[in-house]
Amino acid sequence: MPHIRLKPKREASVVRFHPWIFSGAIADVVGNPEPGSVVAVEDSAGKWLAWAAYSPESQIRARVWSWDRADSIDAGFVVSRLHASIARREAYQHRLASNAVRLVHGESDGLPGLVVDRLGDACVVQLSSWGVEVWRDPIVQCLSELPDISWVVERSDSEVRHLEGLPERTGLLYGPLLERVELQEGGLRYEVDILAGHKTGAYLDQRANRAEIRNWVQGCDVLDAFCYTGGFGLNALAGGAAAVTFLDSSQDALIQVQANLQQNGLQAASTDIRQGDVFQVLRQFRDAAASFDVIVLDPPKFAPTRSHAEKAARAYKDINLLAFKLLRPGGRLFTFSCSGGIDADLFQKIVAGAALDARVRSSVLAHLEQDIDHPVALHFPEGAYLKGLHCILT
Ligand code: SAH
Repeated sequence: MPHIRLKPKREASVVRFHPWIFSGAIADVVGNPEPGSVVAVEDSAGKWLAWAAYSPESQIRARVWSWDRADSIDAGFVVSRLHASIARREAYQHRLASNAVRLVHGESDGLPGLVVDRLGDACVVQLSSWGVEVWRDPIVQCLSELPDISWVVERSDSEVRHLEGLPERTGLLYGPLLERVELQEGGLRYEVDILAGHKTGAYLDQRANRAEIRNWVQGCDVLDAFCYTGGFGLNALAGGAAAVTFLDSSQDALIQVQANLQQNGLQAASTDIRQGDVFQVLRQFRDAAASFDVIVLDPPKFAPTRSHAEKAARAYKDINLLAFKLLRPGGRLFTFSCSGGIDADLFQKIVAGAALDARVRSSVLAHLEQDIDHPVALHFPEGAYLKGLHCILT
C-alpha cells in the first residue's frame, strides 16, 4: 500500500481529526500513488494515523477519508458516506421551507471535495478534489437512484479544480434534456439555470438570512447589492418593503430578477433593476445624495485563500464604508463575506473600520452564518466560510 510519511511533529492536526494534509508536512511519499488513490498516512516513526486520498499537485496533498484502520476505502465506503449525509438532511429538510437542500457539504460530511445540492427533482454535483473525482461513477449512480430524482447535473467548474490539476467539467449526467428547474423557498419561486447559473445554480447557504430580512423591512427603501437573481430583494418585497433597488453586474442575473418578480406577482412600480459595478454605483449614489433604510451587501468571494486576505480586506472595507454612508438614521446593513481567507473576527474588524471611517456609530444586532444544511465539522473550522453581520446605525 502506498503511504505518506509525515515530518517529525507534524502529525498533531491529523490526530485531531483535521482532514487536510499539506505538502509541507510530508517527509516522503512512498510507492508512487496514483492521483486520487488511497494512501496510508504515517507519523515520522511509521505509526499508522489515517487513510487519505492522494492529490499530487495541490498544496493540500492528501485529504483524510478515515481515522479507523479497519475501514476499507472503496466505492461501497464512499456511497455509504453519501447515504449517511443524505439521511442527516432527511431529518430536518421539512424545516427549510424549500424544495432545495445541500445534501453533501464536503469535509464536514466526511466527503472531502464533494458538494451535492438538491434543487427540486435535480441533483447538482460538484467534485473538487482528486479523492472524489475517482469515485465519480458510483457517486452519480447513487444520486440517480434516489427517489424523486430525475436529473443529475455536474458543475465541476470551481477554481479549486485547477489547484488539483483537474480540468473543468459540466454537463447533464442523467435524465432527459433539461431547461430550468424551479426553486421554491419561503413561499417564493425562482427559476434556476443549473447548467449555467453561478456555483450550483443557487446560493442555498443564504436561505435563512434571506428569510430573516423579511422581519426588518416593512415600509423601507432597500438596496440589494450583488443581488444575483434577487433573493434578498424578493424577500424584502415579500416582507413589505416600500421599494427595492436590485444591483448586479451580470445582465443574465438581472433578466432572471425580472422574471422572478413576475413569477411571484411582485412586479411593483417600486423596483429598480440596475446593472453596474457595485464599487462604482455606490459612489454614484453617494454623489447623488441617495439614501436607503436597509442595505444588503452579499459580494462574491474576494479572498478564496488567506494569501488574498489583504487585498480583499480593502475591497470589503470600501463597499461597507460606502454603504454606511448611504444609510439613513436608524438604518440597517446586512453585510456578508463568503471568503474562506477572512474569518469572522477579521470581518467584524473590517466592518468596524468602515463604520469609523464613514463617521457613523453602529451596533451588531446579530451574527449571521450559512444555513444548517452547510454544517461545520468541529475539527474543520475552515468549513465556516459564510459570515454576516446585521448592523444598525445608533
Ligand atoms: N445575494 C445573492 C447571491 C449573490 S452572489 C443570493 O442570495 O442569491 C454575488 C453576485 O455578485 C453575483 O451575482 C455576481 O454577478 C455579482 N458581482 C460580482 N462582482 C460584482 C461587482 N463588482 N458589481 C456588481 N455585482 C457583482
